[in-house]
Amino acid sequence: MWDALLDLFLGSGCAVCERPGRVLCRSCHDSLPRQAHDCWPSPTPPGLVRPAAVGEYAGALKLLVNAHKEQHRFALARPLGDLLAVSVSAHLQSPVTGGTCGEVPVVLVPVPSRPQVVRRRGHDPLLRITARAAARLRGDGVPVTVARLLRPVRATADQAGLAAPDRARNLAGSMRCRTGGCTARLPPRCRLVVVDDVITTGATVREAQRALQVEGLTVIGAALVAATRRTADRRRGRVRATGVEA
Ligand SMILES: [Zn+2]
Repeated sequence: MWDALLDLFLGSGCAVCERPGRVLCRSCHDSLPRQAHDCWPSPTPPGLVRPAAVGEYAGALKLLVNAHKEQHRFALARPLGDLLAVSVSAHLQSPVTGGTCGEVPVVLVPVPSRPQVVRRRGHDPLLRITARAAARLRGDGVPVTVARLLRPVRATADQAGLAAPDRARNLAGSMRCRTGGCTARLPPRCRLVVVDDVITTGATVREAQRALQVEGLTVIGAALVAATRRTADRRRGRVRATGVEA
């Protein structure tokens, strides 16, 4: 509420259509997607869990993600978290061993941001929207928690501008589960969903998945707000990505 009032006080407007007033006007809010879809990257990293997103990283979704991430429009954590919750829900509808997913605790695991990126931005936007997504799902009766299980263990180059194979090489072995028994505190039989704001090549999600699975944890899917539409330039024999992974 305070963030929303601050946005209003500072004279800002809708992050999508720039109409003065609310950080996301009712019209733009009502036009946001209501359903998630599978968003397999092409090429798909081998073994990648099923990724779900509510739409393409373009238009309103791109404006919202960037306004929240880079312009500190914190009130957008709420609608972005609600969109992420829709993507998480896509993984809760299929039955799993030992009951339905709705009965088994679900743990959202955000991909770790590089410390220097968090310092530069002054906040951790993914953690903010993940917390909102969990709160939204708990409000709907789904047993969901958030666990920051992963940490970066070495420096990686900026993913922007790297082709898919280079992104995978850049990230391989770059994450690890935190020590200190944090995995022991997870609910019994819990299922993990890796969450991120945008999926481009899938290399980030795949690395997070690997780091969790080597600890014996069960990852049932990845939930994203948006997916970058990637265009293959066959003449050059390479794939070009138009998005940025944090
Ligand atoms: Zn608007």
